[in-house]
Amino acid sequence: ATPVAFIGGVSRAARAGILMKGSAALEALAQIRTAIFDKTGTLTLGGAELIEIDVAPGQQADEPLRLLASLEQASHHVLADSIVRIARHRKLMLSQPCDVREYRGEGLKGRIDRISVAAGSRPLIVGNGPLPKWAESGESRYHDAHVLRVFLAFDGHLAAVFTFGDAIREDAVDTVRALRSAGITRIVMLTGDDGTTAEKVSASLKLDAVFADAAPADKVGTVEAEKAAAPTMMVGDGINDAPALAAATVGIALGARGGTASSEAADVVVLTDSLQPVAEALRIARRTRGIAL
Ligand code: ADP
Ligand code: MG
Repeated sequence: ATPVAFIGGVSRAARAGILMKGSAALEALAQIRTAIFDKTGTLTLGGAELIEIDVAPGQQADEPLRLLASLEQASHHVLADSIVRIARHRKLMLSQPCDVREYRGEGLKGRIDRISVAAGSRPLIVGNGPLPKWAESGESRYHDAHVLRVFLAFDGHLAAVFTFGDAIREDAVDTVRALRSAGITRIVMLTGDDGTTAEKVSASLKLDAVFADAAPADKVGTVEAEKAAAPTMMVGDGINDAPALAAATVGIALGARGGTASSEAADVVVLTDSLQPVAEALRIARRTRGIAL
């Protein structure tokens, strides 16, 4: 390959808001056959609007939201950013959390004003057990919607369930189409979220497969397995995606919101808060290789 052509490709990408870490990344990108996408914050916007709060008998809606947002100040998840923004918008006075422990891709636990507060996915907060009656409303009502659910416990007792709208990115459909016409033969979703939610998003985008309930280590395992079959790129936004981005043939981070950990682990960083540059990066890579060969 002609190095000059690749340098041209790298600078063309830079003008489109795509940071390529060297011409090797561009060269590798031109060979990709399989694309893996994270869901929350990558294919979707990451819970930007609060739709419903279901609270345990005796709880008021504002206090659970205030404590949730207080705790989320310590998290780097996209959803955490959304929650803190929503609480500030409602003029809630947040408290400083302490003794925080984050479970990447699942949630977090800590203490606020001497209460032990835990927030996250259903398995993290309630395990496999059934939900109390009051918590079932959001579950049945938003069954067919694109939502994210956050479970909140005080001192080990479920206190509230939050339902956030998690709309698919506007450019997701076009990006998937563009990737297919650029020669990507397999597009799959890999998410820490549950299967029901994941299947809905996947069906809207007509993806080829879904891997749900994936912890960061499981994400690495899936990337390794796909990579064994064909050169594979992984696209993600969060710190929980960093190991999977590093394991892929090419890791692409949506860097505008994901923070430094995922950007450092990636070979390519999209600098705008959008998905379309992923397809553009691939087109540039293919075109550049055509010139270089
Ligand atoms: P994805 O892998 O698609 O990006 P995540 O693993 O980030 O999805 O999130 C999966 C689920 O874990 C969310 O729907 C939410 O219930 C829970 N979760 C993850 N991080 C947090 C957090 N910081 N606060 C509350 N819930 C969280
Ligand atoms: Mg994510």
